[in-house]
Amino acid sequence: MKHYKICVIKGDGIGPEIVDEAIKVLDTVANKFDLDFNYEHYLMGGAAIDVFGEPLPSETLEGALNSDAVLFGAIGGPKWDDVERHLRPESGLLKLRKGLGAFANLRPALVFDELVEASTIKPDVLKGVDIMVVRELTGGLYFGEPREKQIDKAYNTMIYTSDEIRRIAKVAFEAAQKRDKKVTLVDKANVLETSQLWREVVSLVAKDYEDVALEMMYVDNASMQLVRNPSQFDVILTENLFGDILSDEASMICGSIGLLPSASIGGKVGIYEPIHGSAPDIAGQGIANPIAMILSAAMMLRYAFEEEAAAQCIENAVKKVLKSGYRTKDISNFGAKEICSTEEIGTHISNIIADE
Ligand code: NAD
Repeated sequence: MKHYKICVIKGDGIGPEIVDEAIKVLDTVANKFDLDFNYEHYLMGGAAIDVFGEPLPSETLEGALNSDAVLFGAIGGPKWDDVERHLRPESGLLKLRKGLGAFANLRPALVFDELVEASTIKPDVLKGVDIMVVRELTGGLYFGEPREKQIDKAYNTMIYTSDEIRRIAKVAFEAAQKRDKKVTLVDKANVLETSQLWREVVSLVAKDYEDVALEMMYVDNASMQLVRNPSQFDVILTENLFGDILSDEASMICGSIGLLPSASIGGKVGIYEPIHGSAPDIAGQGIANPIAMILSAAMMLRYAFEEEAAAQCIENAVKKVLKSGYRTKDISNFGAKEICSTEEIGTHISNIIADE
């Protein structure tokens, strides 16, 4: 039996509801594949502000650093919107990513056949869409200094070093090697010096990956192409801000933000979390879609533990649940046979895994 220590951060809003379902599914997978998961729970975000007065207590960071992976729900909510910027729930997440050295955010965006009608885009445009957005996560505008808001003037700094670009480019090319062997670098090199450096460095890295084609695209064009012809993309490589926006756009192509997982890797310990936030508008109602969270647990099995068979087992069970017509409310107007609660979807996925 293999043993893994998982740092669990449920967070705020729908976080606890969806993490509970991911743990339910993980426990079933553990039984099936002879794995042992030891969950250690920590507070972060609003829940940590309420108890410790700060969004990332040192014991949470330590717990994460001493684990094999972090399973993370979501943080934030209106209750903490007015606290100072450095104490906001989101600043805890930025610090956690930085503290773990998780510089690469992998966000798959693929269209489930069963939900092709869920998208606002025509089904024939969506056929074959399977994109991996590789977003730089610990640099750029979100971290650059100096930054300041004055009364009638404010500024931020977008800054990247060649090393930061090189290491994320390698992640993207290695991902492409396991996929359709194409990387599209998305930037704004016609305006930004940082983008010009990205082009230079990524072109050099590309020489080490001759089997992978490199294409470069301006971000304004890329955001348009994602809607016009999304199947042209395989791996999208981009910096922090552009990646934040494009990955949400890619998620809507797929139907619902409640379906898409992510992995933040590159450092000692990776963070596995859905791409959506804490959805305070639906928290506590039992209607949140837990699939993005459950698929994040599958990514954890794949990338952190190299338990590929267990990861695929979860992904197949998710597909079967969707095929059977079980849907949470957010995707209920597309081929739904039964509208399910958060907990029911987790149980259906878990039962399929157990029965196989
Ligand atoms: P959000 O992703 O929480 O919600 C956007 C919309 O999508 C809402 O209508 C919500 O109900 C819906 N939605 C999201 N996840 C869903 C799910 N699993 N099932 C069904 N519907 C779902 O984004 P927001 O409303 O802009 O932000 C809410 C809070 O979350 C804010 O405090 C924000 O700062 C925070 N946030 C946290 C993270 C994170 O923890 N990684 C990411 C983004 C936003």
